[in-house]
Amino acid sequence: MTIPVLRFAPSPNGPLHLGHALSALTGFETAKRLGGRFLLRIEDIDITRSRADFINGIYADLAWLGITFEQPVLIQSEHFTDYLAAAERLLGEGLLYPCFATRSDIASKADPAQSDPDGVPLYPGIWRNKADIELQSRIAGGEKPSLRLNMLKARDVVQQRLGRAPLMFTELADDGATLTVIADPARWGDAVVVRKDVPASYHLAVVVDDARQGVTHITRGQDLYAATDIQRLLQVLLGFPEPIYAHHRLIAGPNGRKLSKSLGARSLKALREAGATPPDIRRMVGMECPADLQSE
Ligand code: GLU
Repeated sequence: MTIPVLRFAPSPNGPLHLGHALSALTGFETAKRLGGRFLLRIEDIDITRSRADFINGIYADLAWLGITFEQPVLIQSEHFTDYLAAAERLLGEGLLYPCFATRSDIASKADPAQSDPDGVPLYPGIWRNKADIELQSRIAGGEKPSLRLNMLKARDVVQQRLGRAPLMFTELADDGATLTVIADPARWGDAVVVRKDVPASYHLAVVVDDARQGVTHITRGQDLYAATDIQRLLQVLLGFPEPIYAHHRLIAGPNGRKLSKSLGARSLKALREAGATPPDIRRMVGMECPADLQSE
């Protein structure tokens, strides 16, 4: 029997807030309950937005919450060559193509009625079938492309690999029920797999690292539920094992909207400095408070 492996994978582009506390505590406690291992991964591929003080803040907040994790911590920005190697495999199979379109090129050609699950206009295929000569002249001119997935081709390849079975994933619901969900990666369109500015993308880095680290159970917020569709597709294309997913509820902010750093949600640090205790945080995120913590 394999030992369960769980992880918390924050992006250090802001301080952790209550939503992160729920994610980290859920992963840590599920790992304990299953007799598994718990890892921390710093998802800092967005090198312009990631900051060392936010990374230090993650360590301080987790220590305060009593969350421990194995060493060494995986820092994604130290592994760009691995993400590129995975992208090269996909490129070699003709599943990626270079795209030089700018945001405004895409905005002017996209169908406003069609957007991906993040609300971004679906890429209108501008560079999908461009002749080699045009690509080469752009590259020769020093322009850097992003690499996009040819979604229709990718779906065909996945279909061949899976035979008649649809692309699926297993979701563990809060009440312990196991659901089989049919993935619909096509709703992401020809998504970016390697960005122009960094040699990776969130979807690529996450699947490469979950496979490398042997993650068996992915506990994370419901806001990443739709991302699972394209991540499952990439896992099949790259021959990676299939983890089990458990997407937890989101914590709403004071205005009832999703908590996010940009909305100025109160950080765990600010709550701590205002006198909140770890049991208070558990209560605030709607988690039960074990008896040994209640007196705090
Ligand atoms: N780094 C992602 C975030 O902070 C989470 C990735 C994941 O759990 O798959 O939203």
